[in-house]
Amino acid sequence: MKVDFHVHQPARSREGTYPYSAADYIAFMDRHGIDISVMLTIDGFWYDAHACNDYLAEWCAPHADRLVAYCTVDPRKDDAAEEVERCVTRYGMRGVKFHNWLQGFSPLESFMAPVCERAAALGIPLFFHDGTPPYSSSLQIAHLAVRHPNLKIVLGHGGLHDLWPEAIAAGKRHRNVYLCMCATPPFAMEQIVGNVPLDQILFGTDGGLFHVPEQPFVDYRFREFEALDIPVKAKRQILGANALRLLGRA
Ligand SMILES: [Zn+2]
Repeated sequence: MKVDFHVHQPARSREGTYPYSAADYIAFMDRHGIDISVMLTIDGFWYDAHACNDYLAEWCAPHADRLVAYCTVDPRKDDAAEEVERCVTRYGMRGVKFHNWLQGFSPLESFMAPVCERAAALGIPLFFHDGTPPYSSSLQIAHLAVRHPNLKIVLGHGGLHDLWPEAIAAGKRHRNVYLCMCATPPFAMEQIVGNVPLDQILFGTDGGLFHVPEQPFVDYRFREFEALDIPVKAKRQILGANALRLLGRA
């Protein structure tokens, strides 16, 4: 089993077209042996989040077994928690993605509380961009795990280039914090696997950011992961069982 836990739906043109289709991306996944991709928006971080959730749901729907959609919301809006529930109950979305730096908010603002509580009640994780200031330091995000002990929180880059020691600290401190290693340097990935409980570790590639379905760095990042000096059993668990459990498929 090979799950890519961090992939973006390509941005739409003004005419509402996509640079490639979901079927094109599935064909790409097949060529590289990827079973499931967790699909996050790009457009939804700055355009109308509700509409972008609809677009993403429509894009993924014909391939629901292979493309698992996460919604996004503007957490400042009064109906943010309602929108999360709509996406889960209507579309079967499995999490909420925030790019707190692009969306311009601190995850510790009081307006996050209703979204956190609703997600915890629905049993879905909140997935955050992490590893780059502002608003996105790994421990800052992980503090939500203290406020909401029943909420699962995913650090979408495992601290990225600079803050992976923080991400490790967060994973060791909080059993409800998951580290998605994505664009995390190889040495940092080995340190994460050596220090954070294994069942809290995921892997993703940031696929979908390129303008054609063949995403050069997706294959590159999987090969980088396969080359890590960690047990094969750990690699299988990160790409398989851990991801499936968080997606509610195990
Ligand atoms: Zn991303």
